[in-house]
Amino acid sequence: MKIAILSGKGGTGKTTLSVNLFSYLEQATLIDTDVEEPNSHLFLKGNLVKEEIVYKKYPLVDDDLCNYCGKCGDFCNFNAIIPAKKKILVFQDLCHDCGGCAMVCPNEAISYIDKEVGVIYHTQIKENKLFLYGNLTVGEVSGVKIIETLKESTKNAELLLIDSPPGTSCSTVAAIDGADYCIICAEPTPFGLSDMRMVVELLRAEKRNFGVVVNKSNLGNDDIYHYLEEEKIELLEKIKFDREFARIMADGELLINYSKYFKEKIANIARKVLGDKDDQ
Ligand code: SF4
Ligand code: SF4
Repeated sequence: MKIAILSGKGGTGKTTLSVNLFSYLEQATLIDTDVEEPNSHLFLKGNLVKEEIVYKKYPLVDDDLCNYCGKCGDFCNFNAIIPAKKKILVFQDLCHDCGGCAMVCPNEAISYIDKEVGVIYHTQIKENKLFLYGNLTVGEVSGVKIIETLKESTKNAELLLIDSPPGTSCSTVAAIDGADYCIICAEPTPFGLSDMRMVVELLRAEKRNFGVVVNKSNLGNDDIYHYLEEEKIELLEKIKFDREFARIMADGELLINYSKYFKEKIANIARKVLGDKDDQ
């Protein structure tokens, strides 16, 4: 089973939920796909077992074979390859590594070369607990290739938790691809509700099952609960804000180890999402 944890914006407790749910479960794999700003590793201590460099391919044009017909540029949806008068311009950052330009080139003028875009760290937390996180190379604009590699590396996991990038970008779409269930973390504020609506629209468009955890439930107003009721969206749990939680997390510690209240909330979420698969 694959469960994605996501949010409309950063700072809603998505990572807190991911690492605590992962730690609560007896057996699970967690991937942090927020590759621009990974932070799950700050809470999870284990043994680094592998470092995997991630490469993306981009086109290289042989000027001797190219006749500047323009077919590659016509094909590319991302404006990553643009035939100019006597030169083919390639914009590496825009390339999505689809391989299409070489397929349409009538002169076999296009080959591909590798570019390093990031690294994935594989960490063994316990015997039955594997945690992977990706880190995008500074200056790279898209983390999709790293997210796809993270998903590919863990495709056989029996229970996979996916800490997804915030928002509704291509990276988020890549992270939730194939997820059986999604947990949205949201805050009961006007901005929190507005950001959450966009995530709801995305998940409905992608035909994903999902529910909502409301964090900082003792702050804000009731609009989010009215919205969930009107839209018939399951409220998985409400978790109140506590200054002590912030202090514990600032020390890189897991809340389930310090708060009975928080552990019960996580247990309840696990029960609702996994049924009898949660083992503690
Ligand atoms: S399709 Fe091939 S031959 Fe035509 S412009 Fe592109 S690289 Fe050159
Ligand atoms: S590989 Fe795909 S995305 Fe990249 S330049 Fe070629 S057609 Fe465009």
